[in-house]
Amino acid sequence: SSALVWFRRDLRLQDNPALHAALEAGHTPVPVYIHAPHEEGSWAPGEASNTWLHRSLAALDADLQARGSSLVLRQGDSQAELQALIDETGAEAVYWNRKYEPATQPRDATIKRELREQGIDAQSCNGSLMFEPWDLATQQGGPYKVFTPYWRNALTRLHIPAPLKLPDTLPAHDARSVSLAELKLTPTLNWDQQFWEHWQPGEAGAQEALTVFIDGALNGYRQQRDLPDRVGTSLLSPHLHFGEISPWQIVRRLEAERSAGRDADIDGYIRELGWREFSYHLLHHFPKTPEHNLNPRFDSFQWARDNPSQLAAWQQGRTGIPIVDAGLRELWATGYMHNRVRMLVASFLCKHMRQHWLHGARWFWDTLVDADLANNTMGWQWVAGTGADAAPYFRIFNPVTQAQKFDPNARYITRWVPELATLPVKARFAPWQTPDLLAQHAPSYPALPIVDLAAGRDAALTAYRRTGGE
Ligand code: FAD
Repeated sequence: SSALVWFRRDLRLQDNPALHAALEAGHTPVPVYIHAPHEEGSWAPGEASNTWLHRSLAALDADLQARGSSLVLRQGDSQAELQALIDETGAEAVYWNRKYEPATQPRDATIKRELREQGIDAQSCNGSLMFEPWDLATQQGGPYKVFTPYWRNALTRLHIPAPLKLPDTLPAHDARSVSLAELKLTPTLNWDQQFWEHWQPGEAGAQEALTVFIDGALNGYRQQRDLPDRVGTSLLSPHLHFGEISPWQIVRRLEAERSAGRDADIDGYIRELGWREFSYHLLHHFPKTPEHNLNPRFDSFQWARDNPSQLAAWQQGRTGIPIVDAGLRELWATGYMHNRVRMLVASFLCKHMRQHWLHGARWFWDTLVDADLANNTMGWQWVAGTGADAAPYFRIFNPVTQAQKFDPNARYITRWVPELATLPVKARFAPWQTPDLLAQHAPSYPALPIVDLAAGRDAALTAYRRTGGE
């Protein structure tokens, strides 16, 4: 007998509960990926996600072929494609790992119910989270809105499961596949060319990134994770998003590294994975938050009128604030931006420019290789001050002093805004303050920021007070 193993955001073979369940039940697994972006509501994957997905699917197929199986690709409506494959293969079961986005959760529930009605063994598993979003509740029984008590509770329940065994060979199947090229996931213009100097999509690339992290940036992670001028973090976010690695695989490897000197860094890292868990908890319990403020008080907040030319300057890294421009250019070139800089560019957009956070969330959605509805929504609402447990609105980052603190030698700024390279280091944080030097060394860089920092801050605070803040 055979079983469909429906791959989605779990593009790996090791430690994959759905694949494991199919094998345990004695089925020949028919691995299938169905391309159905129209089922993701208004959050169909963006261009950077798609180009990553293309490579990740190729890697998954190669890994399956190395074991004697292969990946079946289809496109269309998920339910219809599953049904067609069941008819073609005579599959008796369908297994998958859960997804948690508000658009696809109800779809999956319907598919499970209808498959079961026809006697198909439909099972969903947890392949991407340490805690199901519904596993943890406050003492009153409701969802958490604050991270610290959420994580305190989570830590008391953290039981690391044993890894799942995967045989060296998998039984072959003869289901037909469309070609990967037919999914049209790669961009027509090669704007992603530079990406692949930084990334290796797929399960092997994810394991390699984890090893590099453990040998390198894990040492001193707690201090270095805030410094964008170096590799101070794991760079695992796109691999985690696509499920090329699971949090349990990471935690197991880290636990094996424990020693007195490393405990604080390991605990610090697992806590960051906790933020990812928390974002899925929030998305599950507050499914409208990808578009709507979690804190309704901000529904009356007066955002500035849409300003397409300012927004374009922000997107293209031409705001005249070097740290902000560096971040947005890093994003464009690599599909990634350092977490500290994400906070700074987001704060500048939502506060100094007073543009709605959704403008930023949408741009990130299209350009990040790690674009993730749960993490992105929480990140933007946190910075905008509209979310749970958010930075208070009136605490407005000053991008100049932040850059001086976290990028003290302007190395990050200089890497991404190289036209400032010949200015004295001190002048690279706020080059408009030394206009003669700027004109002489970097005539192509904006002479003034698109928003005056003090005026933008005051306008943001005034708008905030009108919502009844402080
Ligand atoms: P590490 O420091 O090595 O952390 C390890 C893992 O922990 C990450 O891969 C990630 O899965 C998780 N993690 C770390 N920090 C956070 C956090 N603040 N929130 C949630 N999970 C976290 N992350 C995404 O994965 N996708 C997004 O679309 C995304 N959008 C963001 C938007 C904004 C405005 C902000 C401020 C943050 C956003 N983040 C997002 C969170 C964070 O910036 C990235 O997860 C992190 O930079 C990824 O780099 P890393 O894997 O090297 O992180």
